[in-house]
Amino acid sequence: MSSTLPYKLHGKSGPIRVALAGNPNSGKTSIFNALTGARQHVGNYPGVTVEKRIGSFKTDQAAFEVLDLPGTYSLSSFSPEERIAQDELIEGGHDVVVVVVDSTTLRRSLVFVAQVMQTDANLVLCMNMTDEADKAGQRIDLDQMQALLGFPVVQTVGHKGIGTDGLVRAIFAVAKTPSINHRLVLGERLETAIQEIRKRLEEAGRQSAGLDWVASRLLIDDRHFVDHFRNLDERGRFAVEEAEHQRRRIESETGRDISLFISERYYGFVDGLLGEVLQCRPRDDARALSNSVDKVLANRVLGLPIFAAVMYAIFWLTFTGGEPPMGWIESGFSALGGWISGWWPAGAESPLRSLLVDGVVGGVGGVIVFLPNILLLFFGLAVLEDTGYMARVAFLMDRVMHRFGLHGKSFVPMMTGFGCSIPGIMATRTLENERDRLTTMLVLPLMSCGARLPIWMLLIPAFFAPSWRAPMLFFIYAFGIVLAFVLALLLRKTVLRGKDAPFVMELPPYRMPTMRAVVLKMVERAWIYLRKAGTVILGISILMWFLTSYPKKDAYEVDARIAAGTVQMTRTEIQNARAAEDLRYSTAGRIGRFLEPAIRPLGFDWKIGTAMIGAFAAKEVFVSQMGIVHSLGKIDDESEGLREKLAREYSPLVGLSLMLFLLVSAPCMATIAVTRRESGRWKWALLQLGGLTAVAYIISLLVFQVGRLVG
Ligand code: GDP
Ligand code: MG
Repeated sequence: MSSTLPYKLHGKSGPIRVALAGNPNSGKTSIFNALTGARQHVGNYPGVTVEKRIGSFKTDQAAFEVLDLPGTYSLSSFSPEERIAQDELIEGGHDVVVVVVDSTTLRRSLVFVAQVMQTDANLVLCMNMTDEADKAGQRIDLDQMQALLGFPVVQTVGHKGIGTDGLVRAIFAVAKTPSINHRLVLGERLETAIQEIRKRLEEAGRQSAGLDWVASRLLIDDRHFVDHFRNLDERGRFAVEEAEHQRRRIESETGRDISLFISERYYGFVDGLLGEVLQCRPRDDARALSNSVDKVLANRVLGLPIFAAVMYAIFWLTFTGGEPPMGWIESGFSALGGWISGWWPAGAESPLRSLLVDGVVGGVGGVIVFLPNILLLFFGLAVLEDTGYMARVAFLMDRVMHRFGLHGKSFVPMMTGFGCSIPGIMATRTLENERDRLTTMLVLPLMSCGARLPIWMLLIPAFFAPSWRAPMLFFIYAFGIVLAFVLALLLRKTVLRGKDAPFVMELPPYRMPTMRAVVLKMVERAWIYLRKAGTVILGISILMWFLTSYPKKDAYEVDARIAAGTVQMTRTEIQNARAAEDLRYSTAGRIGRFLEPAIRPLGFDWKIGTAMIGAFAAKEVFVSQMGIVHSLGKIDDESEGLREKLAREYSPLVGLSLMLFLLVSAPCMATIAVTRRESGRWKWALLQLGGLTAVAYIISLLVFQVGRLVG
């Protein structure tokens, strides 16, 4: 019979506290489940939506408590997950830290291990996915590896629970005789610098573990740590000054940026280690295929033109594929409108009829009509993402983006911005450098979001011949991207001056996307779109209908003129003339006319002005409000679609000026609010709002005025 002895560690009793750290998808949770079984509890870290998973298990010798840390690619880039993982590793007081790595991607995973070694944790390296590494023919000299690292290394197959016994033995052994004897080799230059900063930290009264890590972070100018020590006391400031001194020394001696230098030292250590322990390198069939494909797709010269062609193809598909189903939905809604109209006797005027037909069906229907386009565009983007192609494009764009003062990592938030600016802006959290983050955030609304797609779908066919439609859509998206780069450069030369941080990127192999994942992404998008149409857009459409319908005139000029006998009109003509007078007289009409002198030079009339106001609430409202304005203004033209009305009323030049204005000008209210929240200051949100609107005004003014001169 065996009894469980509560294991005594450093004089404190209680379970041995173990933390699992590792890259996402390395199999941490599988290992966690294999160790703890059903004895686990899932909660949240305070204030963030990051899961906290704790479990426990017992052996004959001891009780263990296990924490499954959030998956992180490195300790040095600060998404909320990474921040939490880092804090836990430095201050969590765990008895043992198990780093779980995917054995098939050892090079990248071991850089993370090297970082964790600097935190002075009691380490066990868990080489997971051994089955796959074996299959690829990888052979590792484990004894040699343990000797070189200075802590135990075990191999596991997480989802099958193979190797967990060995893992538990290693954890127990390390907990029992904690001896931190890591053999991290980073080269004399870096090690000396870390040593010097470390001394200052110790003088500042920091005796805790992880000082090498803290010193590295100070050296790399990580705001989080720099601010902490600056505000601590005089000694803390000495440590920061020492770090600055060491950083300047290294940068001038090596001529390289400090973060690039440190990253190279980590990779240097890992490559040296792998050189010693890899008895047989894995064949990487997927990688070999990827590499040959990349010779073309990620080619320095061909890469970006190919990307442009791919995007063009997606836009073409968005138009041509979307048009027929769009026609069906459109006739569905017009039938619905006709059916509702039929509840009232023909010719009778009823505010409720107008609210339902013009406000609700016209407004919301006008937006829902574009659902097929949304589905197609996001289907295309999901395929590009899931095949791994987008990662290549990010890689290619990195060089271009650097020239404009943007960080390569900004590409992903910017791509997200094609869906919606809000998650895009939130995704800028992955950028470490404050200035990179702000720059990306401020120009991000120039990525044409999903809410603007209906505007393009309405305006482009109204003003441009079929063969010009896909090129125009391409032009609008490209214009937004190019302008974002130009404005980013401007910001980096003025209010956000400072040097940018380099980054190392690893390309995933190409994969066949699964239909399920692609369809899920597409459906998610479509659902967001429909939900918004049914809630926000519905509400604003009703509001806009009221603003556009009231107050009504009680005496019409047209009646006076007829009474005076100056004109003769049919009954329908009289009704149309009255409706047009009402529209001008309504609240929206007045606001529009108030704005008109300001927007006239851009080619816009007061009707467009009213729709513009609505677009600030949500971009789609532009479409619904154009529908409302143009159907309220005329009664007897149900056969004529909104596009035809627009084509009759405005010139293609106005159309172009209008699209550019809607692309560049004030993002929607929600975007401004998120920018305020994420940047922490109203100043940046207002700069975004005012700056983009001013730029939009100038561009549209130039386009319209020059266009008019040229003809
Ligand atoms: P986490 O993101 O690090 O928590 O990773 P998970 O534990 O969720 O595992 C990611 C995927 O890898 C899951 O589909 C697991 O079933 C699978 N997996 C985990 N361990 C292994 C392993 O050793 N070998 C193989 N082939 N698959 C594994
Ligand atoms: Mg997990």
